[in-house]
Amino acid sequence: MPLITSPWRQDFPGILALQADGQTYLDSAATAQKPQAMLDALLDHYRHGTANVHRAQHPPAERTTRAFEDTRAAVARWLNAARPSEIVFTHGATEAFNLLAYALESEFAAGDEIVISALEHHANLLPWQQLARRRGLALRVLPLDERGHIDLLQAQAIIGANTRLLAISQLSNVLGNRQPLPELLALARRHGALTVVDGAQGVVHARQDVRALGCDFYVFSSHKLYGPDGLGILYGREDALARLAPWQFGGEMLQEADYQWASFRAAPMGLEAGTPPIGPVIGFGATLQYLSSLDPLRVQEHERRLHQALLDGLSQRRGVVLLGTPDSALASFIVQGVHHADLAQLLGEQGVAVRSGSHCAMPLLRSLGHDGALRVSLGLYNDEHDLRRFFDALDQALEILR
Ligand code: PMP
Repeated sequence: MPLITSPWRQDFPGILALQADGQTYLDSAATAQKPQAMLDALLDHYRHGTANVHRAQHPPAERTTRAFEDTRAAVARWLNAARPSEIVFTHGATEAFNLLAYALESEFAAGDEIVISALEHHANLLPWQQLARRRGLALRVLPLDERGHIDLLQAQAIIGANTRLLAISQLSNVLGNRQPLPELLALARRHGALTVVDGAQGVVHARQDVRALGCDFYVFSSHKLYGPDGLGILYGREDALARLAPWQFGGEMLQEADYQWASFRAAPMGLEAGTPPIGPVIGFGATLQYLSSLDPLRVQEHERRLHQALLDGLSQRRGVVLLGTPDSALASFIVQGVHHADLAQLLGEQGVAVRSGSHCAMPLLRSLGHDGALRVSLGLYNDEHDLRRFFDALDQALEILR
């Protein structure tokens, strides 16, 4: 069998630096390394003189605003949104969910229900849970089947006339499996509910078409898609965005203001109060340009083969129990009789960076009967050597711990 190599590894100086430092990075679902193209763009931007966006007529401001708005257009193209104004920049995916939960608050009345699933990340759980508590709404939770997929039959019984909003993850950051989104979104639409998709993991491993998906809102973070941190993306279809009330107040989001009153701009500007993350947006533009230059089928095939090698290696080890049935570039597992934190510590000492804990999905881990698990997650720069180093370290750690 030929060794699986990554033709893109050289494009990521961070992964090479970690390697030179004896580190094997297998935690890309937490945050990804960055391509040289993004580093160059960030440095270029600051080196040539930055300026604030949308506020001034001077040439540096015009140049920066152009680069900033070009990225909005590039994100819209990347997601196949109908127009750039359907893209709102936030400071992270978490902020985008909080924005939605505040900006939609007036849509809800007593008796209304919000539906999420049992596998949601805290970022797509707590904002809805707290909204439900503020407004006296019911938060209903779609259960999973034994493979870790949202159970469609049960979803049909739960999503109904009282459902005002469905918020679900496309790809679980713990179980690593794609959820039956088209069916769930269609079900919610049939009942007139708004739909929010958490694409934080899904956007990384397949090109998205938000129009084909048919959701009202789609959320992700730049930093997991090889872009800078401090930047979240909220896509909203034009008519859905129009339903959002301003939620944060400050500079540039208003039309007119006096001491006692103000009027506000439409989205996206009306939802972007204050100075936005200018550098991260410009850096993310370069990341998208880099990603657009790659052959998506080749990337997909690389990730598929590497993921299969990860699953094969795990299945060959005694006592390893996978969580769910992962079909994308990560796998979470426990080892019977061994605590995940001890294992993670020994792996870390051997220079293997994997994540352990509840992965910001505590209710899910609890429902599976665990207080935590280890997670190995892959980026397009990983190769089979990384997996060999992980498995060698795992075998050694298990020898010590058993
Ligand atoms: N949803 C999922 C599925 C995630 O994996 C994450 C990040 N771990 C988030 C939401 C939140 O993203 P961020 O921390 O970048 O706001």
